[in-house]
Amino acid sequence: MRWVNWKYLLWLVVATLWTAVCFIAPDFIDNPVNSLRSLCTVLGFIGACSIAAFLLLYVIGANRYVTAVVLPVWAVLGAALAFYRVGYHVTFTPMIIDVTLHTNPEEAMGVISWQLIAWVVLHLVICGVLIWWRWTRINVNRSWAHMIVGLLLFTAYVNAKYSLTSIVLEQRFPCNIGYHSYIYFVSFQREPETRVVPNYEIKDQADSLTVVFVLGEATRADHLQLNGYERETTPLLAERRNVVSLPHIFSEHTFTDACLPYILTRADSVHTEYQYNECSFIRILGETGFTTAWLSNQDKGKPYASFISESDTVVFVNAGKSIYVYSQWLDEALLGALDSVYQPRPARAFYVLHTVGSHWYYNSHCPEALQRFQPTTTNRVVTNNSIEQLTNSYDNTVLYLDYFLDSVIHSVEDQCALVLFQSDHGEALGEEGCYLHGHEIPGVQNPACVVWYSDKYAALYPDKIKALVANKDKRYRTDYLFYSLLFAAGIEAEGDNTAYNIFR
Ligand SMILES: [Zn+2]
Repeated sequence: MRWVNWKYLLWLVVATLWTAVCFIAPDFIDNPVNSLRSLCTVLGFIGACSIAAFLLLYVIGANRYVTAVVLPVWAVLGAALAFYRVGYHVTFTPMIIDVTLHTNPEEAMGVISWQLIAWVVLHLVICGVLIWWRWTRINVNRSWAHMIVGLLLFTAYVNAKYSLTSIVLEQRFPCNIGYHSYIYFVSFQREPETRVVPNYEIKDQADSLTVVFVLGEATRADHLQLNGYERETTPLLAERRNVVSLPHIFSEHTFTDACLPYILTRADSVHTEYQYNECSFIRILGETGFTTAWLSNQDKGKPYASFISESDTVVFVNAGKSIYVYSQWLDEALLGALDSVYQPRPARAFYVLHTVGSHWYYNSHCPEALQRFQPTTTNRVVTNNSIEQLTNSYDNTVLYLDYFLDSVIHSVEDQCALVLFQSDHGEALGEEGCYLHGHEIPGVQNPACVVWYSDKYAALYPDKIKALVANKDKRYRTDYLFYSLLFAAGIEAEGDNTAYNIFR
């Protein structure tokens, strides 16, 4: 009995090499590579993904009928994703599935080119050769047994990667196809939950008011020049009048999905259940005459997806970006949406701008012209950079936030308007051996908060501004936001009191 089917093994190696070079490697096209170490990092990731591809090809190739049906699908998906990854710097995400399924023929034609078709046809030809080879030259006995063994090995391998946390296989070809389809079709498509609207009272609503809530990402309070940081990270905001920074806001949770429901709903440490059974302030603003919009430079996390759908208009300005894309991914894409989504701007308008802010990989989220603090990071693995590099790259994102907020303010300056920036959580920059977020340490639990108001707003609500200035050094949890934002818009929600309201 032969233990190894050498002919089949050779076929598998060739099919894996084709996949690795043409479909997996392009996914790493924009990864930073400028040292031997960073090159080894990227090659290691490509290798890890290629092992997953090898095991799946083992399953697909074991039975020649399965090969003939599944391998062409593999070729078309792999080729198309690699094409968009290299040409457009977008990757396969649940948001991309959403966009693809809801596109119209005109939009679809806009992204289909002859180059794409030629590239896909080329890979269908290669795929045809592999199928012909498999059918005419290779015999695999007990193919179903091989398929079962292959599936078990694949499952074991993909799950074992959790011990190697920096290798995120499910985000890469071929695992990303199954993973993101699951997220989209299973997680997001459930019946919308029935959420109740908390009681509220209209108090002193203005006839004309624009409120912009900038939902920040991983911006820590102590890296703002406005809060006494020694570097000039917020020079534009420091120059502006009517800017109030609140340096003592604390978040109980330390990653986006957990933080957002506490910011958007009445949920707090006592009533955690509100995040599941109550709607957000967006619904209340909509009921009280505001035209609402959720403009996002991130994606739609399941814990806050239902709040997004409370908005009248939803725009994802970069649906194909994931944190595994290392090319430029800038928040200024939101500025165009802010100006164009409603024209002319309704008398009462409310916008959420969900930014990507200071998320890792920091250099991707700051244009090169603003990367003033040098040297910056050079390796996609956080810990392969020095603390100095990390801090420089991080501070550059804060400098870019300064530019971004200044531009948002500029867009609403002449109106009766309020811009409220609140980051979801902070970020660790090597303190106590911690990096990124998700840790319960001060840098991560103390997100930045900045409020700007127009002169017209101050003239209309002098007491609120007086209270804001008086409260600026008090300590709040991010729970403050729900009540404060509504109160600033002339609405008092049940449960509102001074402990929760920066404008009281
Ligand atoms: Zn976050």
